[in-house]
Amino acid sequence: MVTTTGKVTDPGDPYDGHVTDVTSSGSDVLARAGQSVVERLADPYPGPIPFSVEFFPPRDAEAEARLWRTARTFERMNPAFVSMTYGAGGTTRDRTVRIAGELATETTLLTVAHLTAVNHSIEEIRGLVGAYADKGITNLLALRGDPPGDPLGEWVKHPQGVQYAEELVTLINELGDFHTGVASFPEGHHRSPNLAADTGNLVRKLRAGAEYSVTQVFFDVEDFLRLRDRLVAADPEQGAKPLIPGLMPITSLATARRMTELSGSKIPAEVESRLAKAAGDGPDENRAQVRAVGIDLCTEMSERLISEGVPCLHFCSLNFAKATSEVLERIGIDTRGALVGA
Ligand SMILES: Cc1cc2nc3c(=O)[nH]c(=O)nc-3n(C[C@H](O)[C@H](O)[C@H](O)COP(=O)(O)OP(=O)(O)OC[C@H]3O[C@@H](n4cnc5c(N)ncnc54)[C@H](O)[C@@H]3O)c2cc1C
Repeated sequence: MVTTTGKVTDPGDPYDGHVTDVTSSGSDVLARAGQSVVERLADPYPGPIPFSVEFFPPRDAEAEARLWRTARTFERMNPAFVSMTYGAGGTTRDRTVRIAGELATETTLLTVAHLTAVNHSIEEIRGLVGAYADKGITNLLALRGDPPGDPLGEWVKHPQGVQYAEELVTLINELGDFHTGVASFPEGHHRSPNLAADTGNLVRKLRAGAEYSVTQVFFDVEDFLRLRDRLVAADPEQGAKPLIPGLMPITSLATARRMTELSGSKIPAEVESRLAKAAGDGPDENRAQVRAVGIDLCTEMSERLISEGVPCLHFCSLNFAKATSEVLERIGIDTRGALVGA
């Protein structure tokens, strides 16, 4: 995957990252204390739509410094929330909890922590939820996670753990006054036998108490709209909960191809052909042109989704602010805070 230093590194685990020391600053954390994502989405927002940003735990001090520049840049644009993904490795996990806690306590950003069941006993999950709560994080994205090393490999449940995200939602909500979200999949999850079964699973997670879902990154708005229709048809009450589309401005064709491959999703032929045309001879030959087309595509998708009345746009930033800021600016969000070259 692309790291915060801009290098392409081992893409085997898109949710594996490392962080070290942290910069700090004063902040108004009380403004967000105790607020849920759904409450936040009902707040007044600047521009045409609320937006949110996803970060992953950076690998080293340099990458962490960039993450902080990026986080501060977005902070000035008033996102509805930011989220921090959760990786597979032990030391990475400690750092993830630390940096998510720092985002929650040292910025005004409403912080959502992703939490997965991979290699965790129920006892450990309880401890992890408690560690987040100690840092004032009550918004958690409950995920099963993928097998470390090979996201498409065989899923093996921890002997004292949970099998599905649905159980994680129940477990977290039993532990206290938490607000959980879950993952959803416009193209269907790669392990689901069909779209109906996949929608059924999403309904189960929402009925278990999840308040909203965030989708996997997709590049065909029709896939998202069909998921929304299926969800509403399967259960109108659960279908009324926010279904937040996951977007990513493509800045490298090779990275986009790799990311979709790892998550079992696809780049539609029309999108692939626009990007390939811009790329020229090789996937990363004409980087500037690929980036320009990637930003055009993401802007077009955002505009269509706004016109379709989605509750929020969730951007996978890969810990960079620039490409997402360009999309935000083009859809009419005030990005004047985004002056730092993050
Ligand atoms: C927005 C978003 C954020 C993510 N963040 C992270 C992250 O931070 N870290 C990370 O490691 N991964 C992350 N992922 C990836 C995610 O963990 C994987 O896609 C994983 O394979 C599925 O997780 P889930 O929570 O949807 O699992 P589940 O909802 O448990 O579903 C897994 C599979 O089991 C099936 N299923 C569920 N319940 C049942 C049942 N009762 N009976 C039969 N089949 C069932 C589902 O249909 C699906 O095919 C994220 C994904 C998304 C969309």
